[in-house]
Amino acid sequence: MSDFQSIATMMAAVLDDEAGSITPPIVQTSLFAFENYQAFEDRMAGRTNQSVYTRVQNPTVAAFEGLMAKAEGGEAAVGFASGIAAITSTLLAFVKPGSKIACVEHVYPDTYRFMEQILRPFGIEVSYYPVEDFEANADLLANFDIAYLESPSSVVFTPLNLALVAEHAKRHDTLTIIDNSWATPVFQNPLAQGIDIVVHSASKYISGHSDTVAGVTISSQEHIAAIRDLTLPLLGAKLAPFEAFLLTRGLRTLNARMMQHQATANLFVDRLAALPQVRKINSPGANAVPGLTGRSGLMSVEFDDSVDIPKFSDALSHFRLGVSWGGFESLILPARVGLAQAGPKNSMQAFGVSPNLVRLNLGLEDAEDLWADFEKALNQSAT
Ligand SMILES: *Cc1c(COP(=O)(O)O)cnc(C)c1O
Repeated sequence: MSDFQSIATMMAAVLDDEAGSITPPIVQTSLFAFENYQAFEDRMAGRTNQSVYTRVQNPTVAAFEGLMAKAEGGEAAVGFASGIAAITSTLLAFVKPGSKIACVEHVYPDTYRFMEQILRPFGIEVSYYPVEDFEANADLLANFDIAYLESPSSVVFTPLNLALVAEHAKRHDTLTIIDNSWATPVFQNPLAQGIDIVVHSASKYISGHSDTVAGVTISSQEHIAAIRDLTLPLLGAKLAPFEAFLLTRGLRTLNARMMQHQATANLFVDRLAALPQVRKINSPGANAVPGLTGRSGLMSVEFDDSVDIPKFSDALSHFRLGVSWGGFESLILPARVGLAQAGPKNSMQAFGVSPNLVRLNLGLEDAEDLWADFEKALNQSAT
């Protein structure tokens, strides 16, 4: 298990415990005043580190960033207003005109749109490869500046041997960035495996309550400084103090929640495997690849043609229909809804996802209740 278990020690380190508070104060201010002229000039010249303006620095946000850096085993972290802001602000800090990015297939749909609708028109070349190519082809990254990874990927949840890909990347001087939202620092620490930069949608497991949209990037001092100097202040997608407070609250129960998500997911994987209507279960578990120590509650299932998916969806009562994941509530997201999504650059269409696929977000409800609901709906869904 990761460093993550030292959460109490981590928490103590970020608290100003003068008043005995066991949660960090929400410092709800836009600016921080200086004691005198010299202190102001010293700060602006970079000789001291007092907060100046909440767009770039705030103590409540810094407390969350400190916890995330520790949890992922990084030197520093920077919070953002959303997961996609963490992804776009991180990529934009490291690309130049003509940069080449190698990206995993089945990447998160809005990450794909960012690559296609913003980076590509600005002269950045993006190529997509199946996960297996990143592992098997030691020279795949020879001509790439950045490898953009997810392990497991979105939608079909293919895991990636991170240590192996990091080794290939280092030989070719390719910067590696991974979206670690699925595994969380509880089940996977990519930095320890040689990956350069970790990004998270903190809206998912880190928040854990489906009540916040936020993101975070964790890496070395040097890489985080590059983001803090450039895209954090100039794109301005900052994390707000109240959201940071909610995320710090989420982190306290992350380990316990992940254990329950895993137990429910294990139960589902075992029982799904026995169902005649199930063609494929996409749910990597502990040791599916080196360094992955657990199974989260987000998986997908491919049914055969005997299942009427709209009928199945409507027959569920505990599982709600919706996007996002990582909170208390169990959800399903049928792939055909994603395939039908309006607008350009549909990644589900681009990467060829089966319309018989259904994504399950197994929440924290009683596992037997969830299974009973799932089985009942399946039995009512024959075409
Ligand atoms: C949700 C999600 C994102 C985007 O995060 P937001 O907080 O919604 O902006 C990025 N990556 C993955 C894997 C996600 O599931």
